[in-house]
Amino acid sequence: MSTRKLRAITSWFCNKNVATETVTLVDNQKQENVEKVEKKISETFDYIDDISKEDINVDLCFVLDCTGSMGDYIVAAKDCIQQVVEHMERTNPNIKLWIGFCGYRDHCDPNRLQIMNFIDSHLEFKRYMSEVIADGGGDAPEDVLGGLNAAINSMNWRHSTRILFHLGDCPPHGRRFSRLKDDYPKGDPNGLTAESVLNGIRLAGIHYYFGKITNKTDEMIRVFRSIMGKFLVFNLTAEGLDPEELVAKVFESICSSITTTVTITNTMEKTRQRRILEKDSHEPDWNTLPVKNGELLYYRLPKTLTDIKDSRYFKRRSNLVLRKFSYKQAQKPFSSGAERYAYFALDVTQESIEKIVIKERIEKVNSFERCLEALESSTISYFLSKEFNSAATRVGINKKVNFLKVQILRRTAGFSTRYYTMEPKLYDGKFKRFNVNNGIIKEYHSTLEAFAHFTYEYTKGYLVVYDLQGIELADEFLLTDPAIHCKDRLRFGRTNLGMRGIEECFLANHKCDSVCKKLGLSGISK
Ligand SMILES: [Zn+2]
Repeated sequence: MSTRKLRAITSWFCNKNVATETVTLVDNQKQENVEKVEKKISETFDYIDDISKEDINVDLCFVLDCTGSMGDYIVAAKDCIQQVVEHMERTNPNIKLWIGFCGYRDHCDPNRLQIMNFIDSHLEFKRYMSEVIADGGGDAPEDVLGGLNAAINSMNWRHSTRILFHLGDCPPHGRRFSRLKDDYPKGDPNGLTAESVLNGIRLAGIHYYFGKITNKTDEMIRVFRSIMGKFLVFNLTAEGLDPEELVAKVFESICSSITTTVTITNTMEKTRQRRILEKDSHEPDWNTLPVKNGELLYYRLPKTLTDIKDSRYFKRRSNLVLRKFSYKQAQKPFSSGAERYAYFALDVTQESIEKIVIKERIEKVNSFERCLEALESSTISYFLSKEFNSAATRVGINKKVNFLKVQILRRTAGFSTRYYTMEPKLYDGKFKRFNVNNGIIKEYHSTLEAFAHFTYEYTKGYLVVYDLQGIELADEFLLTDPAIHCKDRLRFGRTNLGMRGIEECFLANHKCDSVCKKLGLSGISK
């Protein structure tokens, strides 16, 4: 990591100690909380090198009471989010924010819930918020539980660092929260309870923060804390403040929520022991192993070059296909690499049983995002190999380049959801790494080097598929785990070395031979 970046992060965390101080915490735990945060931060410094290598994607969801009295806060949330995003980009560029919104009102209101799923554009957020108006509400309590419940269950939480920032001036329905005039003194008419909703927040790994506006929510805070333990409460009373001061206050509290969550999440995940597992290179006796159930996710195959270049294609949920999956998995891995363990497994979803391999990341940090990256790389490589094979066939080259189809396996067991990648088992053959993403060619094959050149030319210099590894059969190469160097450094994970990867690792080492020439690939000038 660069010293400049370390300094930026250091000063960011140091500033945040000050910022945490400036945010008025509601109760006497202020000092205790600040100390706790500082301790986490200093612990995190030990891991800062690791953190800096990874982009930290943060899902930040605003759950906002949108009834009549909340107009100033809707404006404040809208106005400060751009500042938050810019501040993060400036001070800690590896934190990437995904912002979502869930507004709630009351049971009598026609527009009881307003939901906007997570997006990475603060402009879009601002535009959306301009159309959210404060109205309705009926009696004093509001549909707080309905709002929180929708935020957990109707929104697409995708990243492992999750923040729910709740802002409201009234408690939920029910006598346990207040003595206010209440149309539903027995509690939520839809049967939601604080226990079910708050446990949902906990199980989803979401960090909850509350912005307090009036004393009417004090009992709610007490009840919530008795259910899910301590959480930070920010005092955001608007009384006597001009709108700009309110925006500044909301800004501080959101930034504080983000850094607190990021430090805590990272510390927790990094301190988890790196497990060293015993290996077994033999297939297990399948009859002794139980059937497990999970879900498989994979991308619809892109159809054009435009799809490939559009990183949003791979963010659209509609392009991810999900299906149920039953399998058996060996208890011990048969091999381990620097990043993953590989297990023998059987796909028993259908009558025709298939041998597969399940790979689990050793480091659990952001495992879903890493799996998605692997899936995106493999989907694009698969698409490009099909294009390459048809171009090659047309000019009489019959050796094919094929990639194994990778899918994500999601398995929920007890309280935790785990993500793995799953692919067909390679035929027995000698597994080789033909070339490496740093440009080293370990075993030269003109077809493979021409394939890499083809990916560069086909995408008009946008990317190169490299790090080709797998087995060679008589009429094809069967490959897995490719790396992609791409102009867009935000895609394809840490093996993407960007333009430097394309130019210095691939182009500088590539020599066109007969296969490139038959394919009519243009010569590479150095
Ligand atoms: Zn070439």
